[in-house]
Amino acid sequence: MSGFSNITLIDLDTIELSNLNRQFLFKKKHIGLPKAQVAAQAIHHMSSSSCITPIVDNIKASQFDALWFETFDIAINALDNLDARRHVNLMCQAAKIPLIETGTAGYVGQTTVIQNNLTECFECQPKPVEQKTFPVCTIRNTPSSMIHCVVWAKDYLFSQIFGDKSENSQYLDSDDPDDSKMIKEAENLSKLIESITDPNFQNLLFDSVFGYSIQVLLELDKLWESRQKPTCLYFDSFLQSVPSTTSTPTFDLKQILDINTCFQIWCSSLKALVSRSQITSLISFDKDDSDALQFVASSANIRAHIFGIPNESIFQIKAMAGNIIPAIATTNAIIAGIAVMQAIKVVSGNIANCKTVYYTYGGNRPQYLYKEPLLKPNPDCSICQAKYFLLSADFSTVKLQDLVSFIQTYQHNICSDEYFSLLEGNRILYDPDFQDNLPKTLESLNVFPGTILSITPEDDHQKGSFLCAVKRNGNVDQSLSIELSGNSKLDTGSKNLVPQKRKIETSPDAVESKKAESLNGTTSSTDQQTKSSGNKQLLIDLDSNEQNTVYLDDD
Ligand SMILES: [Zn+2]
Repeated sequence: MSGFSNITLIDLDTIELSNLNRQFLFKKKHIGLPKAQVAAQAIHHMSSSSCITPIVDNIKASQFDALWFETFDIAINALDNLDARRHVNLMCQAAKIPLIETGTAGYVGQTTVIQNNLTECFECQPKPVEQKTFPVCTIRNTPSSMIHCVVWAKDYLFSQIFGDKSENSQYLDSDDPDDSKMIKEAENLSKLIESITDPNFQNLLFDSVFGYSIQVLLELDKLWESRQKPTCLYFDSFLQSVPSTTSTPTFDLKQILDINTCFQIWCSSLKALVSRSQITSLISFDKDDSDALQFVASSANIRAHIFGIPNESIFQIKAMAGNIIPAIATTNAIIAGIAVMQAIKVVSGNIANCKTVYYTYGGNRPQYLYKEPLLKPNPDCSICQAKYFLLSADFSTVKLQDLVSFIQTYQHNICSDEYFSLLEGNRILYDPDFQDNLPKTLESLNVFPGTILSITPEDDHQKGSFLCAVKRNGNVDQSLSIELSGNSKLDTGSKNLVPQKRKIETSPDAVESKKAESLNGTTSSTDQQTKSSGNKQLLIDLDSNEQNTVYLDDD
């Protein structure tokens, strides 16, 4: 209806009763069906000329690699979590495609346009850390209500084991001498997590966080002068009352869980998360991820039991952990409409007229919409100022040593420093002091198409690079190839520095000058002419989104 003829819609969720008040494409009979499929059918009904491809999957899944992103002219985000937003931002930087970023919370919303080398990206400004409304010592030492246990389970335990460890360092930072014992305890936990593949990991973890850590707390006498003392729980004593932990526990989401059921849920959800963590290095908490929710809910309940706090149902804990702010249909519709208008401007080669738009309703405001010009990229941003390369290889035979030597040989083009480390997320694969993985194949290190590797120079002043592992068709004889990303769409006059098997394509200057012309609105680049006259390809990414139908409701 707005002129986009080819739209790919990606979303992982199924329709729930609570979606129907604001997601107008869905009816009661659709409850339980995938949102992407039902939305695509509904749109096809309204506009049979448009081709809508629904995909029921996570946008972070490995098949959606940088080459897949490159097939689109533009992407629109309608996401509800930071982790997925960061991922799509990075992939759009790698694929050099424009991204419309949107967000709403209650009666406020905003939308902006992100284009590599032209505008700020999603990561150019540091994101404000989520406000912790509870004193850290209460969460860590003396919880007195379920919300304290939920914050501990989600922001400390879960993220310490599966998430970004750096985000919870605030829990380990104190000059109080009593706290030094707790810091030691947390360090022990970090060491324990390194043995995540140990068959006894669940026993060790349980004893550490629900047994020994509580024992350490009990030694801090002054904490318990006017409080009920906690009780330590250990895995073995528990196991006697719970004979079978191999079967999946059955429970009702709204039922208040007893401690034995919590123990069973804890074991089964931990097992599921540990096996997932072998494939993905980071798992972020998502209230709709049932393994993550069950682990956090059972951990919070076990901790509550230890501190004599009444247990709660998984349903109640989900509401606490999700920080639920109501989604408002009108806010979503307004932001969605603006996002589509921005998208039309971008694909028409008119990005110079795009703005960041803010919507706020309420009070005595003279107007509800405010706009600001798009800002230039932050020259210190580690995401949009990095160089992106596509890495294709036979991942089952190429060893990490081959890749590292390749980078060292062509270091001048790929990395600005001869000393560098190679990471996947927070997982270090190689650095000058850690060479254990060098003889291993990329595949055995869980590096395959879809994986993003970052090359971080030892010299902090140098810019980093990203290697986006992709699957190339028809290059089976090519043992290892690294090329500058984004060139397939631009005539940059690039040349192969290394012909034959190993190839580096370069010429970023040509790309930048074209982008600069486009920002100034002086000359429309050939790239954008092609886009606006050709068949428009639009990616709408609705992964785990609460507001997705609205994007399709714009006329
Ligand atoms: Zn940036």
